[in-house]
Amino acid sequence: MSDTADRPIDFSRIPHPAPVPGASRDQAIADPGFGKVFTDHMVSIDWTEGRGWHSATLGPRQPLSLDPATAVLHYAQEIFEGMKAYKLDDGTMALFRPEQNARRFNASADRLAMPHLPEEAFVEAVRQLVLADKDWFPTVEGGSLYLRPFMFASEAFLGVRPAKQYKFLVIASPAGNYFKSGVPAVSIWVSGDYTRAAPGGTGAAKCGGNYAASLVPQANATARGHDQVVFLDAVERKWVEELGGMNLFFAFDDGSLITPPLTGTILPGITRESLLQLAREEGLQVREERYSIDQWRADAESGRLLETFACGTAAVVTPVGRVAGHDGEFTIGSGGAGQVTTRLRERLVAIQRGIAEDKHGWVMRLD
Ligand SMILES: *Cc1c(COP(=O)(O)O)cnc(C)c1O
Repeated sequence: MSDTADRPIDFSRIPHPAPVPGASRDQAIADPGFGKVFTDHMVSIDWTEGRGWHSATLGPRQPLSLDPATAVLHYAQEIFEGMKAYKLDDGTMALFRPEQNARRFNASADRLAMPHLPEEAFVEAVRQLVLADKDWFPTVEGGSLYLRPFMFASEAFLGVRPAKQYKFLVIASPAGNYFKSGVPAVSIWVSGDYTRAAPGGTGAAKCGGNYAASLVPQANATARGHDQVVFLDAVERKWVEELGGMNLFFAFDDGSLITPPLTGTILPGITRESLLQLAREEGLQVREERYSIDQWRADAESGRLLETFACGTAAVVTPVGRVAGHDGEFTIGSGGAGQVTTRLRERLVAIQRGIAEDKHGWVMRLD
């Protein structure tokens, strides 16, 4: 569907009549954890067939009132994004490649038969919310303001077809350093029973439904004592795809780096794409190439594979230390963070935090 707004969206601004008192807020942002604490405001924009986007508001964060027949509650027509606002070293607030999130949001909207939100409106909505809630940046080292833009079918109708009304919202949540002390390696479970995405399905869209379907395999991994689940392709049950919410990279002893290609069943991560660029600049031989579970084990055992890491906005870059499945388990390298993992993580974080030069124009300063 095409962009419906041909003029910039004006936001009505309704300040929160009773924001969280400073002392409680300060306590909340001292150790916020992840996804538990929310800021005072939210952005809301409505879409109605024939009218397009309207009623853009930056207002108090408050509960929604939904008719029980609201389409999203029945058919899961919902998409979202996950991004972070950072305080740079000099105190400036910044977003990391927000236009990429805006673009991916519309790609997800296409797959879920939802209207496009103009990219400028998406970025402006996020920007307005961060500025309104600038006092909510965590005070902990490595903290950030996690932003959750999302859109859902808000029409009250039980027929099965694309809805004629949608709501776009952005909420914000102070987030601590995902890993408090260093970057521990995670152990992952290879799901033999469940897949995440099939060809022609919704694997490349960031939609809530993908996550709903990943909860059982993730719970199985947790029950077996692992941190994360890794999914294989749905056709041959052989090719390594990704974790429930993070992409994967494999680093070899000949200086090469592999990540699975974007074939439609993998979520095109912005962290993944940024790391591909940084790795090329580091002189690594980077290939987007299928990699099988059997090869993964063989290469880990022969020592050819030195490192594996997962990446995504929330945890940035996370080493994978151990892999287990129905056929037993193997360790990667020393079982901890290797050199390539550490170097790429440090380079990306330094750019995101305004410590290293932003040669790519990835950092959008907000004030
Ligand atoms: C969001 C997401 C990622 C990571 O994407 P980033 O843009 O790097 O945060 C990877 N896999 C899945 C399934 C995701 O939903």
